[in-house]
Amino acid sequence: MKASRYNRIFLAESGTWLAFNAWSTALAELIPEDLPFIRAILADPDGTPCDTAHKREIREALVGAHFLVESDVDEIAELKTDMLRDRYRTDELHLTVAPTLDCNFRCDYCYEDHLRVTMSREVQDALVRMVEEQAPRIRTLSTTWFGGEPTLPAAWRVVERLSTAFLDIAERRGIDYRAQLVTNGYLLDRKRAEGLEALKIREVQFTVDGPPEIHDARRVLAGGQGTFWRIVENLEKGHELAQFQLRINVDRRNAQAALDVVGILAEKGIARKVRPYLAQVTFAGSACGNIQESCFSSEDFAATEVGLYREALRRNLPLSRYPFRIPGAFCTVDRVNSFVVSPSGSIFKCWHQVTAGPDVAIGHLLDGEQPFHRVNEVKWLTWDPLEKEECPSCPVLPLCHGGCPFEALRRADSPRGACEHYRFHLDRILEIQHARGAASGSEAAPSRGGAGGSNP
Ligand code: SF4
Ligand code: SF4
Repeated sequence: MKASRYNRIFLAESGTWLAFNAWSTALAELIPEDLPFIRAILADPDGTPCDTAHKREIREALVGAHFLVESDVDEIAELKTDMLRDRYRTDELHLTVAPTLDCNFRCDYCYEDHLRVTMSREVQDALVRMVEEQAPRIRTLSTTWFGGEPTLPAAWRVVERLSTAFLDIAERRGIDYRAQLVTNGYLLDRKRAEGLEALKIREVQFTVDGPPEIHDARRVLAGGQGTFWRIVENLEKGHELAQFQLRINVDRRNAQAALDVVGILAEKGIARKVRPYLAQVTFAGSACGNIQESCFSSEDFAATEVGLYREALRRNLPLSRYPFRIPGAFCTVDRVNSFVVSPSGSIFKCWHQVTAGPDVAIGHLLDGEQPFHRVNEVKWLTWDPLEKEECPSCPVLPLCHGGCPFEALRRADSPRGACEHYRFHLDRILEIQHARGAASGSEAAPSRGGAGGSNP
Protein backbone atom coordinates (compact mmCIF):
# COMPACT_ATOMS: atom_id res chain seq x y z
CA MET A 1 0.00 0.00 0.00
CA LYS A 2 0.99 3.65 -0.16
CA ALA A 3 -0.23 6.97 1.18
CA SER A 4 -2.76 8.92 -0.86
CA ARG A 5 -1.33 12.07 -2.36
CA TYR A 6 -4.34 13.95 -0.96
CA ASN A 7 -3.68 13.46 2.75
CA ARG A 8 -3.44 16.49 4.99
CA ILE A 9 -2.49 16.28 8.67
CA PHE A 10 -2.40 19.57 10.48
CA LEU A 11 -2.64 21.23 13.84
CA ALA A 12 -5.82 23.31 14.14
CA GLU A 13 -5.68 26.64 15.93
CA SER A 14 -7.59 24.99 18.78
CA GLY A 15 -4.58 22.73 19.34
CA THR A 16 -6.34 19.67 17.91
CA TRP A 17 -4.68 17.49 15.30
CA LEU A 18 -6.87 16.91 12.27
CA ALA A 19 -6.49 14.59 9.29
CA PHE A 20 -8.27 15.20 6.01
CA ASN A 21 -8.22 13.41 2.68
CA ALA A 22 -9.24 15.52 -0.32
CA TRP A 23 -10.29 12.45 -2.33
CA SER A 24 -12.76 10.96 0.14
CA THR A 25 -13.28 14.31 1.97
CA ALA A 26 -13.08 12.39 5.24
CA LEU A 27 -12.07 14.49 8.25
CA ALA A 28 -10.92 13.00 11.53
CA GLU A 29 -9.68 14.31 14.84
CA LEU A 30 -6.49 12.53 15.86
CA ILE A 31 -5.55 11.47 19.34
CA PRO A 32 -2.05 12.98 19.84
CA GLU A 33 -0.63 9.68 21.15
CA ASP A 34 -1.59 8.02 17.86
CA LEU A 35 0.17 10.60 15.74
CA PRO A 36 3.64 8.92 15.60
CA PHE A 37 2.05 5.64 14.48
CA ILE A 38 -0.15 7.37 11.88
CA ARG A 39 2.81 9.27 10.47
CA ALA A 40 4.86 6.05 10.38
CA ILE A 41 2.23 3.97 8.64
CA LEU A 42 1.56 6.67 6.06
CA ALA A 43 5.31 6.84 5.36
CA ASP A 44 5.74 3.06 5.19
CA PRO A 45 2.38 1.26 5.09
CA ASP A 46 3.73 -2.25 4.55
CA GLY A 47 6.76 -1.99 6.81
CA THR A 48 5.10 -0.49 9.90
CA PRO A 49 4.01 -3.23 12.31
CA CYS A 50 0.35 -3.23 13.36
CA ASP A 51 0.90 -5.31 16.44
CA THR A 52 -2.07 -4.22 18.54
CA ALA A 53 -5.81 -4.25 17.92
CA HIS A 54 -5.81 -0.45 18.18
CA LYS A 55 -3.17 -0.08 15.46
CA ARG A 56 -5.00 -2.52 13.22
CA GLU A 57 -8.15 -0.50 13.73
CA ILE A 58 -6.37 2.71 12.75
CA ARG A 59 -4.93 1.06 9.66
CA GLU A 60 -8.36 -0.17 8.63
CA ALA A 61 -9.82 3.32 9.10
CA LEU A 62 -7.02 4.85 7.02
CA VAL A 63 -7.71 2.39 4.21
CA GLY A 64 -11.47 2.93 4.43
CA ALA A 65 -11.12 6.71 4.20
CA HIS A 66 -8.61 6.62 1.32
CA PHE A 67 -5.60 7.80 3.35
CA LEU A 68 -3.94 4.53 2.31
CA VAL A 69 -4.41 3.17 -1.20
CA GLU A 70 -3.14 0.18 -3.16
CA SER A 71 0.40 0.66 -4.47
CA ASP A 72 -0.64 0.55 -8.10
CA VAL A 73 -3.34 3.22 -7.77
CA ASP A 74 -2.64 6.31 -9.85
CA GLU A 75 -4.98 8.90 -8.35
CA ILE A 76 -4.35 11.51 -11.03
CA ALA A 77 -5.08 9.00 -13.79
CA GLU A 78 -8.27 7.96 -11.98
CA LEU A 79 -9.33 11.55 -11.60
CA LYS A 80 -8.74 12.17 -15.29
CA THR A 81 -10.69 9.06 -16.20
CA ASP A 82 -13.63 10.14 -14.03
CA MET A 83 -13.54 13.56 -15.63
CA LEU A 84 -13.47 12.21 -19.17
CA ARG A 85 -16.10 9.54 -18.53
CA ASP A 86 -18.48 12.18 -17.18
CA ARG A 87 -17.68 14.67 -19.94
CA TYR A 88 -18.60 12.28 -22.71
CA ARG A 89 -21.72 10.71 -21.23
CA THR A 90 -24.55 10.72 -23.74
CA ASP A 91 -27.10 8.94 -21.56
CA GLU A 92 -27.75 12.18 -19.68
CA LEU A 93 -28.99 15.42 -21.19
CA HIS A 94 -28.51 18.63 -19.22
CA LEU A 95 -30.31 21.74 -20.35
CA THR A 96 -30.03 25.24 -18.97
CA VAL A 97 -32.91 27.15 -20.49
CA ALA A 98 -33.38 30.91 -20.40
CA PRO A 99 -37.03 31.46 -21.37
CA THR A 100 -36.33 35.19 -21.33
CA LEU A 101 -33.46 37.64 -20.91
CA ASP A 102 -35.79 40.21 -19.42
CA CYS A 103 -35.62 40.82 -15.69
CA ASN A 104 -37.60 42.76 -13.14
CA PHE A 105 -34.36 43.62 -11.27
CA ARG A 106 -31.52 45.94 -12.17
CA CYS A 107 -28.61 44.62 -10.09
CA ASP A 108 -25.52 46.74 -10.42
CA TYR A 109 -23.20 43.78 -11.13
CA CYS A 110 -25.43 41.73 -13.44
CA TYR A 111 -23.66 40.36 -16.48
CA GLU A 112 -26.81 40.09 -18.53
CA ASP A 113 -28.23 42.69 -20.86
CA HIS A 114 -31.94 43.09 -20.25
CA LEU A 115 -33.26 42.25 -23.66
CA ARG A 116 -37.03 41.98 -23.62
CA VAL A 117 -37.02 38.75 -25.56
CA THR A 118 -39.13 35.75 -24.57
CA MET A 119 -38.71 32.36 -26.22
CA SER A 120 -41.04 31.99 -29.20
CA ARG A 121 -43.29 28.98 -29.83
CA GLU A 122 -41.08 28.09 -32.80
CA VAL A 123 -37.95 27.91 -30.61
CA GLN A 124 -39.80 26.04 -27.85
CA ASP A 125 -41.01 23.44 -30.34
CA ALA A 126 -37.50 23.05 -31.73
CA LEU A 127 -36.20 22.47 -28.20
CA VAL A 128 -38.84 19.82 -27.56
CA ARG A 129 -37.87 18.16 -30.86
CA MET A 130 -34.24 18.12 -29.76
CA VAL A 131 -35.19 16.37 -26.52
CA GLU A 132 -37.47 13.98 -28.41
CA GLU A 133 -34.62 13.07 -30.76
CA GLN A 134 -32.30 12.34 -27.83
CA ALA A 135 -34.96 10.50 -25.81
CA PRO A 136 -34.19 6.99 -27.08
CA ARG A 137 -30.64 7.14 -25.73
CA ILE A 138 -30.92 9.15 -22.52
CA ARG A 139 -31.77 7.91 -19.05
CA THR A 140 -31.75 11.30 -17.35
CA LEU A 141 -32.99 14.71 -18.38
CA SER A 142 -32.18 17.61 -16.09
CA THR A 143 -33.31 21.16 -16.71
CA THR A 144 -32.23 24.37 -15.04
CA TRP A 145 -34.56 27.31 -15.55
CA PHE A 146 -32.42 30.38 -15.78
CA GLY A 147 -32.68 33.88 -17.18
CA GLY A 148 -33.16 36.83 -17.22
CA GLU A 149 -35.81 36.07 -14.67
CA PRO A 150 -37.72 32.87 -15.43
CA THR A 151 -40.60 33.72 -13.08
CA LEU A 152 -41.73 36.75 -15.10
CA PRO A 153 -45.28 35.98 -16.29
CA ALA A 154 -44.48 35.46 -19.98
CA ALA A 155 -41.35 33.45 -19.16
CA TRP A 156 -43.19 31.30 -16.61
CA ARG A 157 -45.69 30.31 -19.28
CA VAL A 158 -42.72 29.03 -21.30
CA VAL A 159 -41.42 27.15 -18.23
CA GLU A 160 -44.83 25.53 -17.77
CA ARG A 161 -45.27 24.64 -21.42
CA LEU A 162 -41.76 23.19 -21.85
CA SER A 163 -41.93 21.36 -18.51
CA THR A 164 -45.18 19.72 -19.59
CA ALA A 165 -43.59 18.61 -22.87
CA PHE A 166 -40.41 17.35 -21.17
CA LEU A 167 -42.41 15.48 -18.53
CA ASP A 168 -44.50 13.88 -21.23
CA ILE A 169 -41.39 12.66 -23.08
CA ALA A 170 -39.85 11.48 -19.82
CA GLU A 171 -42.94 9.49 -18.90
CA ARG A 172 -43.31 7.87 -22.32
CA ARG A 173 -39.62 6.95 -22.51
CA GLY A 174 -38.99 6.04 -18.85
CA ILE A 175 -36.52 8.89 -18.42
CA ASP A 176 -35.66 10.27 -14.99
CA TYR A 177 -36.60 13.98 -15.05
CA ARG A 178 -35.53 16.65 -12.60
CA ALA A 179 -35.46 20.42 -12.67
CA GLN A 180 -34.14 23.36 -10.73
CA LEU A 181 -34.89 27.04 -10.82
CA VAL A 182 -32.51 29.98 -10.48
CA THR A 183 -34.55 33.02 -9.52
CA ASN A 184 -34.22 36.36 -7.81
CA GLY A 185 -37.16 35.15 -5.71
CA TYR A 186 -39.31 38.26 -5.95
CA LEU A 187 -42.20 36.68 -7.85
CA LEU A 188 -41.96 33.21 -6.31
CA ASP A 189 -44.81 33.68 -3.88
CA ARG A 190 -46.65 30.86 -2.10
CA LYS A 191 -49.11 30.37 -4.95
CA ARG A 192 -46.32 30.07 -7.54
CA ALA A 193 -44.31 27.82 -5.21
CA GLU A 194 -47.30 25.47 -4.89
CA GLY A 195 -46.96 24.80 -8.62
CA LEU A 196 -43.30 23.72 -8.44
CA GLU A 197 -44.03 20.09 -7.62
CA ALA A 198 -46.16 19.61 -10.74
CA LEU A 199 -43.25 20.93 -12.83
CA LYS A 200 -40.83 18.64 -10.95
CA ILE A 201 -38.81 21.66 -9.86
CA ARG A 202 -37.24 20.32 -6.70
CA GLU A 203 -34.46 22.84 -6.13
CA VAL A 204 -34.75 26.61 -6.11
CA GLN A 205 -31.91 29.07 -5.75
CA PHE A 206 -32.73 32.54 -4.41
CA THR A 207 -30.22 35.36 -4.09
CA VAL A 208 -29.78 38.27 -1.71
CA ASP A 209 -26.97 40.77 -1.32
CA GLY A 210 -26.99 41.35 2.39
CA PRO A 211 -29.39 42.80 4.93
CA PRO A 212 -32.15 45.14 3.67
CA GLU A 213 -30.18 48.39 3.80
CA ILE A 214 -27.52 46.91 1.51
CA HIS A 215 -29.60 44.56 -0.59
CA ASP A 216 -32.14 47.25 -1.39
CA ALA A 217 -29.45 49.56 -2.67
CA ARG A 218 -28.14 46.93 -5.08
CA ARG A 219 -30.89 44.50 -6.04
CA VAL A 220 -33.66 46.83 -6.97
CA LEU A 221 -36.67 46.61 -9.21
CA ALA A 222 -36.42 48.25 -12.62
CA GLY A 223 -38.19 51.22 -10.98
CA GLY A 224 -35.60 51.42 -8.17
CA GLN A 225 -37.71 49.96 -5.31
CA GLY A 226 -36.17 47.58 -2.77
CA THR A 227 -36.85 43.84 -2.90
CA PHE A 228 -35.41 42.32 0.29
CA TRP A 229 -38.50 41.81 2.44
CA ARG A 230 -40.59 40.41 -0.42
CA ILE A 231 -37.88 37.80 -1.06
CA VAL A 232 -37.71 36.89 2.64
CA GLU A 233 -41.50 36.60 2.75
CA ASN A 234 -41.40 34.24 -0.24
CA LEU A 235 -38.67 32.17 1.44
CA GLU A 236 -40.76 31.96 4.57
CA LYS A 237 -43.97 30.96 2.85
CA GLY A 238 -42.57 28.60 0.25
CA HIS A 239 -39.57 26.83 1.74
CA GLU A 240 -41.48 23.63 2.50
CA LEU A 241 -42.54 23.20 -1.10
CA ALA A 242 -39.08 22.59 -2.61
CA GLN A 243 -35.44 22.52 -1.55
CA PHE A 244 -34.53 26.16 -1.24
CA GLN A 245 -31.01 27.46 -1.25
CA LEU A 246 -30.13 31.07 -0.52
CA ARG A 247 -27.09 32.52 -2.22
CA ILE A 248 -25.65 35.53 -0.42
CA ASN A 249 -23.57 37.54 -2.85
CA VAL A 250 -20.42 38.90 -1.30
CA ASP A 251 -18.04 41.56 -2.53
CA ARG A 252 -15.89 44.18 -0.86
CA ARG A 253 -18.88 46.47 -0.32
CA ASN A 254 -21.10 44.14 1.71
CA ALA A 255 -18.85 41.44 3.21
CA GLN A 256 -19.07 42.62 6.79
CA ALA A 257 -22.88 42.64 6.74
CA ALA A 258 -23.41 39.31 4.98
CA LEU A 259 -24.04 37.46 8.23
CA ASP A 260 -26.83 39.82 9.21
CA VAL A 261 -28.96 38.12 6.55
CA VAL A 262 -28.47 34.77 8.26
CA GLY A 263 -29.34 36.44 11.56
CA ILE A 264 -32.64 37.72 10.12
CA LEU A 265 -33.48 34.27 8.76
CA ALA A 266 -32.55 32.68 12.09
CA GLU A 267 -34.92 34.99 13.93
CA LYS A 268 -37.68 33.88 11.59
CA GLY A 269 -36.75 30.24 12.20
CA ILE A 270 -35.92 29.42 8.58
CA ALA A 271 -32.15 29.85 8.41
CA ARG A 272 -31.40 26.13 8.32
CA LYS A 273 -34.24 25.36 5.96
CA VAL A 274 -33.19 27.77 3.23
CA ARG A 275 -29.53 26.67 3.36
CA PRO A 276 -27.71 30.00 3.03
CA TYR A 277 -24.23 30.11 1.49
CA LEU A 278 -21.75 32.81 0.55
CA ALA A 279 -20.92 33.41 -3.11
CA GLN A 280 -18.18 35.53 -4.58
CA VAL A 281 -19.35 38.21 -7.01
CA THR A 282 -17.03 37.97 -9.98
CA PHE A 283 -16.27 40.32 -12.78
CA ALA A 284 -17.68 38.45 -15.72
CA GLY A 285 -18.05 40.87 -18.57
CA SER A 286 -18.86 44.34 -19.70
CA ALA A 287 -22.06 44.60 -17.65
CA CYS A 288 -19.94 44.26 -14.51
CA GLY A 289 -17.47 46.96 -15.44
CA ASN A 290 -19.01 49.41 -12.97
CA ILE A 291 -18.21 47.26 -9.96
CA GLN A 292 -14.99 45.59 -11.03
CA GLU A 293 -12.99 47.24 -8.27
CA SER A 294 -15.49 45.95 -5.68
CA CYS A 295 -14.98 42.30 -6.56
CA PHE A 296 -12.66 40.23 -4.40
CA SER A 297 -9.80 38.27 -5.88
CA SER A 298 -10.26 34.57 -5.09
CA GLU A 299 -7.50 34.76 -2.50
CA ASP A 300 -9.04 37.77 -0.73
CA PHE A 301 -12.50 36.21 -0.90
CA ALA A 302 -11.15 33.05 0.73
CA ALA A 303 -9.67 35.08 3.60
CA THR A 304 -12.95 36.97 4.02
CA GLU A 305 -14.92 33.73 3.97
CA VAL A 306 -12.83 32.31 6.81
CA GLY A 307 -13.58 35.38 8.91
CA LEU A 308 -17.29 35.14 8.17
CA TYR A 309 -17.56 31.42 8.87
CA ARG A 310 -15.68 31.90 12.15
CA GLU A 311 -18.02 34.70 13.13
CA ALA A 312 -21.03 32.56 12.14
CA LEU A 313 -19.74 29.84 14.42
CA ARG A 314 -19.27 32.32 17.25
CA ARG A 315 -22.82 33.62 16.81
CA ASN A 316 -24.18 30.09 16.38
CA LEU A 317 -25.58 30.93 12.95
CA PRO A 318 -26.21 28.02 10.58
CA LEU A 319 -23.69 28.94 7.90
CA SER A 320 -21.02 26.43 7.08
CA ARG A 321 -19.04 25.08 4.21
CA TYR A 322 -17.58 21.65 3.69
CA PRO A 323 -15.53 20.60 0.68
CA PHE A 324 -17.03 18.14 -1.77
CA ARG A 325 -15.17 16.13 -4.35
CA ILE A 326 -16.01 16.94 -7.93
CA PRO A 327 -17.08 13.61 -9.33
CA GLY A 328 -16.38 14.28 -13.01
CA ALA A 329 -16.90 17.21 -15.34
CA PHE A 330 -16.84 20.64 -13.75
CA CYS A 331 -20.08 22.10 -15.08
CA THR A 332 -22.23 22.43 -18.16
CA VAL A 333 -19.31 23.73 -20.21
CA ASP A 334 -17.21 20.59 -20.29
CA ARG A 335 -20.01 18.04 -20.72
CA VAL A 336 -20.62 17.04 -24.29
CA ASN A 337 -24.37 16.63 -23.79
CA SER A 338 -25.02 19.77 -21.83
CA PHE A 339 -26.36 22.96 -23.37
CA VAL A 340 -27.38 26.48 -22.49
CA VAL A 341 -30.32 27.61 -24.60
CA SER A 342 -31.09 31.29 -25.09
CA PRO A 343 -34.63 32.61 -25.78
CA SER A 344 -33.72 33.16 -29.42
CA GLY A 345 -32.65 29.51 -29.80
CA SER A 346 -28.89 29.95 -29.74
CA ILE A 347 -27.07 27.09 -28.07
CA PHE A 348 -24.13 27.88 -25.82
CA LYS A 349 -22.02 25.97 -23.33
CA CYS A 350 -21.49 28.44 -20.46
CA TRP A 351 -24.07 30.22 -18.31
CA HIS A 352 -22.14 33.44 -18.80
CA GLN A 353 -22.72 33.33 -22.53
CA VAL A 354 -26.50 33.39 -22.51
CA THR A 355 -26.63 36.98 -23.73
CA ALA A 356 -23.72 36.58 -26.13
CA GLY A 357 -23.87 36.78 -29.89
CA PRO A 358 -23.91 33.91 -32.38
CA ASP A 359 -20.12 34.12 -32.76
CA VAL A 360 -19.65 32.22 -29.47
CA ALA A 361 -22.65 29.89 -29.87
CA ILE A 362 -22.08 26.27 -30.77
CA GLY A 363 -25.29 26.13 -32.78
CA HIS A 364 -28.89 27.18 -33.08
CA LEU A 365 -32.08 25.23 -32.46
CA LEU A 366 -33.55 26.29 -35.76
CA ASP A 367 -30.55 25.01 -37.64
CA GLY A 368 -30.55 21.28 -38.30
CA GLU A 369 -26.81 20.83 -38.28
CA GLN A 370 -25.44 20.72 -34.71
CA PRO A 371 -22.96 21.81 -33.67
CA PHE A 372 -22.08 24.06 -36.55
CA HIS A 373 -19.58 26.15 -34.64
CA ARG A 374 -17.42 23.22 -33.61
CA VAL A 375 -14.61 25.53 -32.64
CA ASN A 376 -16.76 26.95 -29.82
CA GLU A 377 -17.46 23.48 -28.47
CA VAL A 378 -14.01 22.03 -28.88
CA LYS A 379 -12.27 24.66 -26.77
CA TRP A 380 -14.34 23.69 -23.72
CA LEU A 381 -14.22 19.94 -24.21
CA THR A 382 -10.47 19.94 -24.67
CA TRP A 383 -9.78 22.15 -21.65
CA ASP A 384 -7.52 20.03 -19.49
CA PRO A 385 -6.41 21.28 -16.08
CA LEU A 386 -3.76 18.56 -16.02
CA GLU A 387 -1.92 20.42 -18.77
CA LYS A 388 -1.45 23.34 -16.41
CA GLU A 389 1.90 23.41 -14.68
CA GLU A 390 0.60 23.51 -11.10
CA CYS A 391 -2.67 21.58 -11.19
CA PRO A 392 -1.37 17.97 -11.39
CA SER A 393 0.55 18.37 -8.14
CA CYS A 394 -2.08 20.50 -6.42
CA PRO A 395 -3.22 19.08 -3.07
CA VAL A 396 -6.83 20.19 -3.66
CA LEU A 397 -7.14 18.96 -7.25
CA PRO A 398 -10.06 16.57 -6.44
CA LEU A 399 -11.98 19.54 -5.00
CA CYS A 400 -11.24 21.82 -7.91
CA HIS A 401 -10.52 20.07 -11.23
CA GLY A 402 -8.93 23.29 -12.42
CA GLY A 403 -11.92 25.42 -11.42
CA CYS A 404 -14.40 27.27 -13.61
CA PRO A 405 -13.28 26.69 -17.21
CA PHE A 406 -14.64 30.10 -18.27
CA GLU A 407 -12.33 31.80 -15.79
CA ALA A 408 -9.45 29.43 -16.46
CA LEU A 409 -9.49 30.00 -20.20
CA ARG A 410 -9.53 33.76 -19.68
CA ARG A 411 -6.10 33.37 -18.11
CA ALA A 412 -4.52 31.11 -20.65
CA ASP A 413 -0.98 32.10 -19.60
CA SER A 414 -1.45 31.25 -15.93
CA PRO A 415 0.33 28.15 -14.59
CA ARG A 416 -2.94 27.28 -12.81
CA GLY A 417 -6.60 27.04 -13.70
CA ALA A 418 -9.15 29.15 -11.83
CA CYS A 419 -8.29 28.10 -8.28
CA GLU A 420 -11.18 27.10 -6.07
CA HIS A 421 -11.06 28.86 -2.70
CA TYR A 422 -9.94 25.69 -0.96
CA ARG A 423 -6.46 26.24 -2.34
CA PHE A 424 -6.21 29.22 -0.03
CA HIS A 425 -8.21 28.27 3.04
CA LEU A 426 -8.83 24.54 3.25
CA ASP A 427 -7.27 23.98 6.69
CA ARG A 428 -9.11 26.93 8.20
CA ILE A 429 -12.46 25.85 6.75
CA LEU A 430 -11.92 22.32 8.03
CA GLU A 431 -11.08 23.45 11.52
CA ILE A 432 -14.19 25.66 11.63
CA GLN A 433 -16.27 22.72 10.45
CA HIS A 434 -14.64 20.49 13.02
CA ALA A 435 -15.38 23.04 15.73
CA ARG A 436 -19.02 23.09 14.60
CA GLY A 437 -19.17 19.31 14.91
CA ALA A 438 -17.57 19.46 18.35
CA ALA A 439 -19.91 22.26 19.47
CA SER A 440 -22.98 20.29 18.46
CA GLY A 441 -21.60 17.12 20.04
CA SER A 442 -21.53 15.24 16.76
CA GLU A 443 -18.78 13.00 15.43
CA ALA A 444 -15.48 14.58 14.48
CA ALA A 445 -16.08 13.98 10.80
CA PRO A 446 -18.90 16.21 9.63
CA SER A 447 -21.24 15.31 6.82
CA ARG A 448 -20.20 15.89 3.23
CA GLY A 449 -21.66 18.49 0.95
CA GLY A 450 -22.83 21.59 2.73
CA ALA A 451 -23.57 24.92 1.19
CA GLY A 452 -22.17 25.56 -2.20
CA GLY A 453 -23.76 22.65 -3.97
CA SER A 454 -22.75 21.50 -7.36
CA ASN A 455 -21.58 23.50 -10.30
CA PRO A 456 -23.88 24.59 -13.09
S1 SF4 B 1 -18.79 27.30 -13.79
FE1 SF4 B 1 -17.73 28.74 -15.16
S2 SF4 B 1 -17.60 27.70 -17.14
FE2 SF4 B 1 -19.13 26.64 -15.91
S3 SF4 B 1 -21.07 27.57 -16.52
FE3 SF4 B 1 -20.35 28.67 -14.72
S4 SF4 B 1 -19.19 30.40 -15.51
FE4 SF4 B 1 -19.45 28.94 -17.20
S1 SF4 C 1 -6.77 25.56 -10.46
FE1 SF4 C 1 -5.57 26.03 -8.62
S2 SF4 C 1 -6.65 25.02 -6.91
FE2 SF4 C 1 -7.43 24.17 -8.84
S3 SF4 C 1 -6.22 22.30 -9.16
FE3 SF4 C 1 -5.22 23.97 -10.29
S4 SF4 C 1 -3.69 24.82 -8.88
FE4 SF4 C 1 -5.14 23.58 -7.66
